[in-house]
Amino acid sequence: MIAIAIHGGAGTLRKSDMTDALEIEYKLGLERALEVGFNILKKGGRSIDAVESAVFELENYPLFNAGKGSVFNSEGKHEMDASIMEGKDLKAGAVSGVSNIKNPVLLARAVMEKTEHVLLSGEGAFQFAKQVGISIESDAYFYNEFRHQQWLEIKDSDAFKLDHSEKKFGTVGAVALSEDGNLAAATSTGGMTNKKFGRVGDSPIIGIGTYANNNTCAVSCTGHGELFIRSVVAYDISCLMEYKGLTLHEACNIVVYDKLVKIGGEGGLIAIDQGGNIEMPFNSEGMFRGAINTNGERTIMIYK
Ligand code: ASP
Repeated sequence: MIAIAIHGGAGTLRKSDMTDALEIEYKLGLERALEVGFNILKKGGRSIDAVESAVFELENYPLFNAGKGSVFNSEGKHEMDASIMEGKDLKAGAVSGVSNIKNPVLLARAVMEKTEHVLLSGEGAFQFAKQVGISIESDAYFYNEFRHQQWLEIKDSDAFKLDHSEKKFGTVGAVALSEDGNLAAATSTGGMTNKKFGRVGDSPIIGIGTYANNNTCAVSCTGHGELFIRSVVAYDISCLMEYKGLTLHEACNIVVYDKLVKIGGEGGLIAIDQGGNIEMPFNSEGMFRGAINTNGERTIMIYK
């Protein structure tokens, strides 16, 4: 049994704000990432490789706020966060506040496999990337006129914005179940426009933006990071399943539509369990998302 789900961020996504052409482009990016991940699973590959490859594709697609498409922080720079986790043995790796790393998800994987640590940050993560031969790119690679404009509009204020207008979030992620029964999750983000230099969101924090445990589920989140951290989102879903015996569907509903809403935590997540059941709940207006379920049925959606 194999299945995969991906997301490209949640937020105030309205059909009225989107052109048909742009919608097609977003969907194309999602479809491509989904196929790349699914093909790995179809060939009997591991879920950890499927989620890494799907996120890698999304990081290279400039429309999503991760890797190449990352937003600008308060210093006009890009600081990215990413993490990856395997459900079999709870192995995990993450990086926070990294700049000039072409694909932060690859660096997170290297932290998991090539160090005794779970989370490396900033300059130390950068030095480690050079040691293990992870691709480095110049600032120009990450420059994007649209993102720069978003930042210029608010750079002299204390405001920090989730990706795009109003409350649109941006981050990418994937969760998968492979034939061997293993779950995995990965998440990558540029964070929030005009975020303070050094700010770390939920995405690189294991148990919050990303979590995978073969006994319960694999989860990747997107939304207002601070509120997701305070709600310990991904692990909370796993705990509700493990200790309370809830189904994935029940656990996701409680966390996304009740707990998060109560503290104003806007966003969503994708999750999968050992039976290949997929949940993609969000309490914002939309969430870029896609899935291929255990029957091979494909879904790509943006709005409610
Ligand atoms: N969760 C991310 C962060 O707070 C942003 C997002 O998902 O859009 O950094």
